[in-house]
Amino acid sequence: MPHRFKPEEFKRLFPLFRRAENQGLVYLDSAATSQRPECVIQAVTDFYSASNANTHRSSHRLARAATAMVERTRIASAEFLGASEASEIVFSRGTTEALNFLASSLCSSLDPGDEILLSRAEHHANLVPWQMAAERYQLKLKFLPESLIPGPNGIPQTENFLEYLSDKTRIVSLTAGSNALGFSVDVASVAAQLQSMPCCLVVDGAQLAAHQSIDVKLLGCDFFVCSAHKFYGPTGVGLLYGRRELLETLPPWQGGGEMISNVGLNASEWANIPQRFEAGTASLSSIAGLEAALNFLSECDREAMYDHEQELTQYLHSELMKIQEIELLSRPEGNLGIATFVPRGEVSATDLGHGLDEQDVAVRVGHHCAQPLIDALGKGPTLRASVLAYNTRADIDALIVGLKLALGAVASAVSNADNELAALSIEDLRAHNDWQSRYRQLLKWGSAIQSKPMIRTELNRVNGCEADTWLQRERRGEHYVFRLDSDSRVVRGLGALLLVLIQNKTEEELEHLDIEGVFSSLGLKQHLSPSRSNGFYAMVKKALSF
Ligand code: PLP
Repeated sequence: MPHRFKPEEFKRLFPLFRRAENQGLVYLDSAATSQRPECVIQAVTDFYSASNANTHRSSHRLARAATAMVERTRIASAEFLGASEASEIVFSRGTTEALNFLASSLCSSLDPGDEILLSRAEHHANLVPWQMAAERYQLKLKFLPESLIPGPNGIPQTENFLEYLSDKTRIVSLTAGSNALGFSVDVASVAAQLQSMPCCLVVDGAQLAAHQSIDVKLLGCDFFVCSAHKFYGPTGVGLLYGRRELLETLPPWQGGGEMISNVGLNASEWANIPQRFEAGTASLSSIAGLEAALNFLSECDREAMYDHEQELTQYLHSELMKIQEIELLSRPEGNLGIATFVPRGEVSATDLGHGLDEQDVAVRVGHHCAQPLIDALGKGPTLRASVLAYNTRADIDALIVGLKLALGAVASAVSNADNELAALSIEDLRAHNDWQSRYRQLLKWGSAIQSKPMIRTELNRVNGCEADTWLQRERRGEHYVFRLDSDSRVVRGLGALLLVLIQNKTEEELEHLDIEGVFSSLGLKQHLSPSRSNGFYAMVKKALSF
């Protein structure tokens, strides 16, 4: 009998939230990964401490127990997804691996020129594998028209779907829910329309499975993929459902142990489905944790959890809408618990994300592995707050308070830094006639570059600079804003010079800058060591490579 859902009680089942250092934590990043309840963590540890053995191979007691656990989890997974039988469930490392498998295997039997229909809203996991397969098998990628996702009311319109198909469309692969803007897609309606078409429907259910009970038969799709870590399970394991008739026609995509029935020196015979698609040793402890997650969910009132998440999503949007300094990009209708927004004005999304982190509010900043969709919005990196059943209204209130504080703090830090930079002028530097005095002045300019630990990421690293240096570029409307940090005083000075030249310019203005001319006219080319000059140009390259 499912117990009545109470968010505060539910949250207490998660050890991470009970830890002293996390008492103030506001975790709003579940679209990236959920937290795990105690029973899941325990199952992973128990597997190693009580029943660790490899599966399907050895005949001893522990191996039999491990094999039984894997096959029990397969049955539970089939129930979780509403599959007709356990053999329709393939374990993968996650959604990404499952989609790579499908792209590789489904495309291998297509003819050159055949088409795969995708949308702009896909996670990179449901885009890049198809790009790779398209190149390998000379297939064409087609995309739904821009108006379809997210559609005029924020919800993708799926009626008249057949209009988007051609007589060459063989695969349609769509997300059931956008991880970047939260909108859900009526994949059941798409499946119903595709029923008599010679193409199969792949559904990326990574977000959907975390919020709603899934019934692949009701959805009517041919393949459905999801990751356990999004629905309270461990990382390292995901599920692929495939209709039996289709799975049986698919070639394996990886070779190795356990996926064969007979191996000769020059050729082998494949095992039956689903083992045919599970080469090598799986992440067994993760499968043990997945079993615990499925049992856990089967005892939860998922409808009540969904209702609670929906209420939070509405509340989140209504509260964010009241903050003038941000622009809300997502809509609450048909939304799977995600609010996406950008700061208006001078504040950068990245700085705001770090400002929130300082208040112990965890959100995600960037393109959320959905770059084509985020790029199309033309707002640069965005902030994403995502909820799951353990979140409460108090979490949303804390986000709003934190956001207001962070907006104020970041805006004043930005304006201080900008004021310092704005006070610098190339002519002042030029006015120092002798090189030594000009160089000393340039070193002083370095103080305009304040330490920014948050931009010290591998992505922002300037390669080719002797000292550790990071440069972040962010688009704000038509203009580009740069942030720089370096361990070297000289590089900070040179960086300040570069920022004076490039800060707040449009792409066109940047293209027409004569940075090299300024560099030489100031005598830098002549007087600086080659390694310093190279460092300067490495920063230029990092800043201006579009
Ligand atoms: N598809 C969607 C919609 C997602 O949200 C994600 C992860 O965020 C993925 C695919 C990839 O999932 P994973 O990284 O677990 O393979």
